[in-house]
Amino acid sequence: MKDWLRRFMMGRYGSDQMNKGLLIGALAFLVLSWIVDWNLLWWLALVCLGWSYFRMLSRNIGKRQQENRIYLQKTAALRKELQFQQRKWQERKVYAYFKCPHCKAHLRVPKGKGRVMVRCNKCGREFEKVS
Ligand SMILES: [Zn+2]
Repeated sequence: MKDWLRRFMMGRYGSDQMNKGLLIGALAFLVLSWIVDWNLLWWLALVCLGWSYFRMLSRNIGKRQQENRIYLQKTAALRKELQFQQRKWQERKVYAYFKCPHCKAHLRVPKGKGRVMVRCNKCGREFEKVS
């Protein structure tokens, strides 16, 4: 069985970040379609799933790699923001996060230090903050 699958997948593209995105999209559309009972969402979930399988089984590897490159370029800002939010959540007990009032840069200070003077490492200005 495992050997059969290995032979079947030989020369095929397999999975990548775009496929992962498509599967997450399919799952999101599916869950949404249960909540709002809107048929279009179910169809969108099916399209995402079908597209993901098409890409996984495709033998046109160069074209799929090019699609993945474009996908990574288009979603770079979103993925960066998600990583930042994840980091903020993981460090929520250790660091207080806030934005610089002058340049809007993200800053963090150790939590529980009371009033602290913060120097923005982007614009260099200083301001007081409670951590
Ligand atoms: Zn600043």
